[in-house]
Amino acid sequence: MKLDAAYQPLEIIDSLRAFSMVYSGRARIVEDHSHQFNALFNYPSVIVLNSYVRKKPVIMSPTRSNIYWRDLYRCQYCYNKFPHNKLTLDHVIPKSRGGNKTWENIVTCCEKCNQKKGSKTPDEASMKLFRVPAVPKFSVVRTKPHLKIPISWKKFI
Ligand SMILES: [Zn+2]
Repeated sequence: MKLDAAYQPLEIIDSLRAFSMVYSGRARIVEDHSHQFNALFNYPSVIVLNSYVRKKPVIMSPTRSNIYWRDLYRCQYCYNKFPHNKLTLDHVIPKSRGGNKTWENIVTCCEKCNQKKGSKTPDEASMKLFRVPAVPKFSVVRTKPHLKIPISWKKFI
């Protein structure tokens, strides 16, 4: 994982690229895998860039799986947790009323609540949102959903 000079996670890169960044003097190692591989040199696990600091926050796109992830796989009306295939997306302001596909207007919803709500607003359907939907904070590990997160990364993410 690559951190900027302020230790904010930037992206996940492979060890070889990390190694070459360290070797060329652009970054330094803060955590390595040496204890795992017993290697001749240290494979970087976490590197920190020497100079760059990210100023603008990264905005993730509101895809189906990103929305489920933000809402912790819980229907935002009944707050029950469901597996991926039992969930759907709900437009808070219905599409037919000009509701957009944005982080603020899309929530995770179970089939039952989705049917009940239909093309009404939460007020009209007398259904209350568990929380106001918002753009989530960028997560570097979210960009690689199937990656097993090393323990050495935990304190940085
Ligand atoms: Zn529900």
